[in-house]
Amino acid sequence: MTTPPEPVCDVPSLSVAELKKLPLEEVKAMLNMSSLADLATVPADERVLLLPHCLRRSDRCQARQNREQGLLCQDCDETCAIHILRTAAQEQGYLGVCIAPGGTLAARYIKEHKPHGLVAIACDKEIDLGLQALGEMLTNGDLPLAPITIFVKLSRDGCVDTEVNVDQARAAIDA
Ligand code: SF4
Repeated sequence: MTTPPEPVCDVPSLSVAELKKLPLEEVKAMLNMSSLADLATVPADERVLLLPHCLRRSDRCQARQNREQGLLCQDCDETCAIHILRTAAQEQGYLGVCIAPGGTLAARYIKEHKPHGLVAIACDKEIDLGLQALGEMLTNGDLPLAPITIFVKLSRDGCVDTEVNVDQARAAIDA
């Protein structure tokens, strides 16, 4: 017996004109409905990985900050979550990886790259702000299609030396 397919995020089937008629909260809720099975339908070269810069090892990080591109990781520590997850996405052939110091740069990156799939590692607050930004980009017409989006919540948040379950994040990246 075959397993029935999981429900898919239905935002991509809506036009911008239709989305504009919906309250932003409703658009945000729909954006947050995607599953790993949905993401698996998107080729790696149409996906973007967003990482928060607070995951770096603050006591040894060799990365440089770039105003346009975010943190430029130098791969100084093989145990650093940023190194592990960025490498995993690059090996899969992701369209891009952005290590962002905040939502403004992340939103600009999404607007420029227009991914069809998005894996975003973030804290609760940034997840909410990210949904808000995606909803606004869609209703403004800045994005032609809603990316299939998987959020992986930080297991320890704060602004410095945060943590994520690397296995959970890799499962999303590799989906
Ligand atoms: S691996 Fe990259 S992000 Fe992590 S501490 Fe080193 S330079 Fe910083």
